[in-house]
This record gives sequence, C-alpha cells and structure tokens, in this order.
Amino acid sequence: MAQSDVSVKKTLKLMGTRFEITVVAPNEDIGYININEAVAEIQRIEKLISSWDAESETSEINKNAGIRPVQVSQELFELIERALALSQVTDGAFDITYASLDKVWRFDGTMTTVPSESEIARSVAKIGYEKVILNSATQSVYLTEKGMRIGFGAIGKGYAADKAKTLLMSKEVKAGIINASGDLTTWGTKSNGENWMVGITNPLEKEKVFAWLPVIESSVATSGNYEKFISFGGEKYSHIIDPRTGYPTKGVSSVTIFAKKVELCDALATAVFVLGRDTGMHLINQLDGVEAVIVDSENKIHKTNGITFDKNR
Ligand code: ADP
Ligand code: MG
Repeated sequence: MAQSDVSVKKTLKLMGTRFEITVVAPNEDIGYININEAVAEIQRIEKLISSWDAESETSEINKNAGIRPVQVSQELFELIERALALSQVTDGAFDITYASLDKVWRFDGTMTTVPSESEIARSVAKIGYEKVILNSATQSVYLTEKGMRIGFGAIGKGYAADKAKTLLMSKEVKAGIINASGDLTTWGTKSNGENWMVGITNPLEKEKVFAWLPVIESSVATSGNYEKFISFGGEKYSHIIDPRTGYPTKGVSSVTIFAKKVELCDALATAVFVLGRDTGMHLINQLDGVEAVIVDSENKIHKTNGITFDKNR
C-alpha cells in the first residue's frame, strides 16, 4: 500500500439504517467520489427491494399476491431465489414471507399490547416460502395467496453492502469496509496495512467489547435482541420472529455470523436467532466457510471451531 494512502469515512442513513462507508484512497477527494458511488448503488438497491416504496418491484409482487405472477429484473429474481434457498437450509427459520407479520408486530412504538392469538394465526397462515412460485423462463415471481407479502428486512442490508463493495472493487478501490449498522464486509487492509477488525460485544453491556476478530476479505453480521425490542408485562419481545409460530424468538441474546458474503451472514444471523443455540450451532457447523459466535440468554458464549479469540487485543 502506498505511503500516501488515506482512509476516508462517511456515515449516513440509507435503507432506514446507519451505513458507515470507509475507503482507502490516494487522496481525500478520490475517496469521497468513491463513497458517493457506493451510496448511489445502495440507493439503487433500496428502490428495488423496498416494500414501503409503492413503486418498487417488490411492492408490485406484493400487490399482485393471489392475483398474478409479476415479471421482475434478473437481480431481484436471483435475490429471491437465494432467499428461498436459505429458507430451505434453515427449515423455514429465515423466510422473506414473514412480512405479513410486519403489521402485527410493530417495533416503532405504535404497539400498545401483545397482538392477539387470532391476529397472529391469521398472519402466520399467509407465511410460507413454499408458496412463492418462481418461473425462470418468464423471470416472474408469484405469491400464490391473497394477503401474502415478502420483505427483505433480514437480508437486504447485507445484499446492499455486498453490492457496494463489489462496485468499489470493480473501480479498483484497493480497500474498504461497508458497515450497515454492524453488518459489514471488508476488502484489502487499513491504510496502515493492519487488518480490519470487528468487536463482539456483550449484549448486556454493549459498550464493552469482549473479543476482537479480524475480518479479512470477508464479512460479519450480528442479530441481537438488545437492538430492537419491546416490553410488555416485564416480558421482552425481540424483532426477530419465528415465521412458523408468529411469535418473537427467545433463548438467544445475540448471534454473530462470519462468512465471505455479508448477505449470507445477515440472513443466517436472523435464522440462527430463530433456531436457537443448539440447532443453530448444528446448522452452522454443517456449512462450509461459515462460523458463528452465539451469546445465549444466560450470557454464555458459544462458538464454532473456526473462531479463536485473541485475548491480547
Ligand atoms: P437487524 O440487523 O435490524 O437486527 P435482522 O437482520 O436480524 O435485523 O433482521 C430483522 C428484520 O428482518 C426484522 O425487523 C424483520 O423485518 C425481518 N424478519 C424478522 N424475522 C424474520 C425471519 N424469521 N425471516 C426473515 N425476516 C425476518
Ligand atoms: Mg439479518
């Protein structure tokens, strides 16, 4: 890495979340140009996958649930294909059709009580990745039941970060880190030649990092119940829902996944959160190139074999 390289960083809100984009560039001006290219790419993806934007391809699919298949771009088609494959691998713990529950469990402060069982049951009836029909000949997506919806809340940030990184690498930006509120992907090294590092925090004291791990040409994502939750009657409800029951999951405090692509990390962090400690660990141990750190509800730390904590950092 050239002596004069600088590290340029910008933090901004994109896709309803905090993105921090860092690039290593020959000078500040070039760095900011690169960052703006990454921002444009993330905004482009937001337009494609947003279920709030009535004009997006995703909204078009949702509007036509139970009515007709909708032809979409190759990019969205392939994202949905990968999402459905992940549903299969995780036995439905990760499921983009969870989205019909978005209106039932709301984590924006507008919920005053726990949703009723019948309300939950009605939404759960609309969930099921096997009810999404993909036709690759026509590149179309069909949600077979009225009221079904898809949403990319648990995979979209990761996908956008991967795409921003790919774009910057294609522009020969030599190093950087795209961090979407803790779901991050890196390439190259810091301007001083050191590895990019990620800190694993204790869910009870999230300012305290208990381990630092290097992230070399790869990615990390964390799902934790300390991030977004609501409390009723002393009970804490996390924003990650088991699509099979319609209820928030319990038993795990946080899940951190390491893999090459942050899209996979993002989705698997959500899935393992739903599957719980034992089933989750078992799943990750079967996947090549994927590692996990799980903090359970008793604050005990569990990790897969490929993870070693460096106590000296
Ligand atoms: P965060 O990084 O914000 O903690 P996650 O990546 O864990 O979020 O995804 C949580 C979001 O994904 C929820 O806010 C919701 O929109 C959606 N979601 C919740 N449960 C599931 C699930 N089981 N499968 C797919 N998406 C889910
Ligand atoms: Mg996720």
